[in-house]
Amino acid sequence: MTFENLKLLPQILHSLAAKGYTNPTPIQEKSIPHILEGKDICGSAQTGTGKTAAFALPMLQLLFNSNAHQRKGIKALILAPTRELAQQISDSFREYGKGLHLRHAVIYGGVSQHGQTTALRSGVDIVIATPGRLLDLMTQGHVHLNTIEFFVLDEVDRMLDMGFINDIKKIIAKLPAKKQTLFFSATMPVEIKKLSDSLLKNPVIVQTAPVSTAADLVKQYVYHVKTENKKALLKHILDQEEKPHVLVFTRTKRGADKLVKSLLAEHIKAEAIHGNKSQNTRQKALDRFKNRTISMLVATDVASRGLDITDISHVINYDLPEDGETYIHRIGRTGRAGASGIAISFCSPDERSQLRDIMKLAKNIEEVKAHPHDASHHSEEPRKQNGQNQQRRFTPRRNNSGSNSGGGGHSSWRGKRTNDRSYR
Ligand code: AMP
Repeated sequence: MTFENLKLLPQILHSLAAKGYTNPTPIQEKSIPHILEGKDICGSAQTGTGKTAAFALPMLQLLFNSNAHQRKGIKALILAPTRELAQQISDSFREYGKGLHLRHAVIYGGVSQHGQTTALRSGVDIVIATPGRLLDLMTQGHVHLNTIEFFVLDEVDRMLDMGFINDIKKIIAKLPAKKQTLFFSATMPVEIKKLSDSLLKNPVIVQTAPVSTAADLVKQYVYHVKTENKKALLKHILDQEEKPHVLVFTRTKRGADKLVKSLLAEHIKAEAIHGNKSQNTRQKALDRFKNRTISMLVATDVASRGLDITDISHVINYDLPEDGETYIHRIGRTGRAGASGIAISFCSPDERSQLRDIMKLAKNIEEVKAHPHDASHHSEEPRKQNGQNQQRRFTPRRNNSGSNSGGGGHSSWRGKRTNDRSYR
């Protein structure tokens, strides 16, 4: 299957070729033809599956074909849970929509509303927004939704987790009855099913890999380690990599800041993103991470939602997430769109019950135990040199070689250090 088979406009095919996309991902293949036919969609798709293009491409095409820019008012509204995701969706619309003459604006909180209201006044066809700021601008009379033809709810489960349900309902109440609705959620618990039933008309159900199976390409390890040894273990992991590009998750904002401070003290270039940082600071840190000025980004769950960064070598759960689904979302930051990745979780004794929950959902996590003399037991492994050995990232090696079938075995880090450091 190629994008040409999906009967996309030449301008869109051109933009996709420029991005280097050759074939549609499964969700794109399954959604695009139905959306082009005007159907509602209920998509359950994991993060990193290409779902932004799955809705953006056909919407751009339909808007272009119907000369949307000649009609007054906003024709398409996309709601997303976080500023970062809204910005990324906006970037995607800009890139995919080159040459189509459709105007869009992105609206989110944490920054001055001036630029946003100016954009709205000048007239836009597509609005991408987080619910809170959108509602705010609606109340002030800057946004009118009575001309909406397309409505997209992205990452609905996360929007509900973040407490946006009432805002979303207020926004929905202002939308015209006749519209095409596209609904995406990684999980479909009862509450979300109810919301989708109330919104969608004869939707086409589109499912890609169920959320309970983490991206196959992500190798997952959990390391049992005492809380006080987590920092040393993290530094040890970084030591193994020639060019680490690591996204680290902490449970709290304070924890993220503390960790960054101690990494900086070790001359490891790291920055934190979390809800206490201004949008500009977060965006700058993200840009520095993307262009590899810094090798490490330390994030809390909310701040990381929807981050689209390709080629992350490792996702490290410095603190375990509260539940399995958050774990799946976190590790979905690596192994995106067919790339391989590694997810390493640190589990301290007080996090064991969370680990049990996570392991119910994510079946193929390999358990690794660090021993006091681990690092000294094994000869040094060559590090990547001259571009060789590109595929091998840092991985724990199991002592009982040959078996690779799940937890329990005694394993050790491939360590270049030979000191007697214990991480337990
Ligand atoms: P998403 O799930 O929309 O966040 O997309 C995940 C990543 O896949 C993004 O980096 C996209 O740019 C990329 N992507 C989307 N569609 C394709 C495609 N057909 N081929 C290759 N990469 C893609």
